[in-house]
Amino acid sequence: MIPSRQSQYQQTMTDQSDQHHRTFKDTPTGYRWGGVEHKPYKEDDRALFNAVSRQTLFSRPDMSGELRYFEVDAGGHSTLERHEHVHAVLILRGGGQALIGDRIATLSTNDLVTIPPMTWHQFRANTGDALGFLCMVDAIRDKPQLPTPADLDALASDPAIAKFLAQ
Ligand code: MN
Repeated sequence: MIPSRQSQYQQTMTDQSDQHHRTFKDTPTGYRWGGVEHKPYKEDDRALFNAVSRQTLFSRPDMSGELRYFEVDAGGHSTLERHEHVHAVLILRGGGQALIGDRIATLSTNDLVTIPPMTWHQFRANTGDALGFLCMVDAIRDKPQLPTPADLDALASDPAIAKFLAQ
């Protein structure tokens, strides 16, 4: 018999009654939520990303999605990648730009971005502000693919994308 949603939920909430409400703080070093692990800036040796922190806000066995908050410091960027799973993104603070396939979107607070399957994407905090966004994904998802030199050449054949990637 499949357990009801309520019994699944209660099983995972045992001894976690304070997790029904996590308070928000706007700190000098970025947005934070109470009891949520903050994975601070860790530069990638291969320079795949720069000045990006991550907080997983919701990840539950009784849901098939996860909600994460990423914050890109001014001048930083996320990894250029593609994968089968989709991203649903809500810009929560600041602004910047995103490469979505073959186009570059200029982002403002509260904008929504959807990244379709197997679409090259990168977020850049390139307008002088930090860029903070909520990102919803499948809990079970494929591993991101990184561009080959040939993929990078193909992307950079568009002068606007070449300029975006070179920042
Ligand atoms: Mn991605």
